[in-house]
Amino acid sequence: MDKIFIDKLQVFGRHGVLSEENSLGQMFYISAEIRLSLKNAGTSDALENTVNYSECCHLIKDICEQNTFKLIETLAEKTADALLKFSPLIRSVRVRIDKPSAPIGLPLESVGAEIERAWKTAYIALGSNMGDKRKYIEDAVKAIDADENCRVLRVSDLIVTTPVSDIPQDDYLNGCMAAETLYTPIELLDRLNVEEAAADRKRTVKWGPRTLDLDIIFYEDEIIQTDRLTVPHPLMHKRGFVLDPLMQIAPYKKHPVFGKTVSELAEDLKKTSPEINL
Ligand code: ATP
Ligand code: CA
Ligand code: CA
Repeated sequence: MDKIFIDKLQVFGRHGVLSEENSLGQMFYISAEIRLSLKNAGTSDALENTVNYSECCHLIKDICEQNTFKLIETLAEKTADALLKFSPLIRSVRVRIDKPSAPIGLPLESVGAEIERAWKTAYIALGSNMGDKRKYIEDAVKAIDADENCRVLRVSDLIVTTPVSDIPQDDYLNGCMAAETLYTPIELLDRLNVEEAAADRKRTVKWGPRTLDLDIIFYEDEIIQTDRLTVPHPLMHKRGFVLDPLMQIAPYKKHPVFGKTVSELAEDLKKTSPEINL
């Protein structure tokens, strides 16, 4: 992808583990690669179609000068985070911190750290079958969109579906949304759990009625299997109430394990087991 680059911006800072580093300070050299498409800027010759590198330099300088971190890792993380939020055009950033005067007592040209961070796309299933279902879902979507680490891209229609659990309960309202996020998958799960808690979600019986259920269906093309998180969601391909709304917003998104698109998975489900809806 195209990039704007800033090479070894020299900034004074007080970062370090040693107290002398915090009191005396030293020079840091900060480099950044800011990835975005420059095509529109190149054809229109308009500054609004790119990012202003002068403003980015000042942003980097302010973060370095106005904070005191023990670790250059933290400085890199905060810098990457601020750059990613600086403009909606920015897709990813690489940030490198050089600390050539680090108190090591050995001859060297420089030491440092380099990180790469990006906006990631996640698909999230939305469900509710208690109380004001639509409001629970809409409030959660609004709250996620208002989070500075998330941007909601698309939301499907909310559809009424029949519960399939053995536990008698009201019909569901189901939907899906696509969002960009700076959260890692587990951070995103935690963030979704906060919204479920805000809706007073109780987990008493498995597959029981709920005010709000937010499941991660896809996170980029990542395949994750840990105690707390399985992505893609392990039952998504068996659930019409996930596939139908997902079809509206991402029919060609490919399942990274099965290698089939959402549209193909929906077709398969209808063909093989029209009655199954786990
Ligand atoms: P189902 O997962 O079959 O839709 P559920 O949504 O009713 O069931 P919950 O009680 O909401 O189940 O969640 C149980 C646990 O599932 C959560 O504590 C969470 O750690 C785990 N989990 C695993 N993978 C995911 C995922 N992709 N999205 C959301 N939660 C997940
Ligand atoms: Ca669920
Ligand atoms: Ca869930």
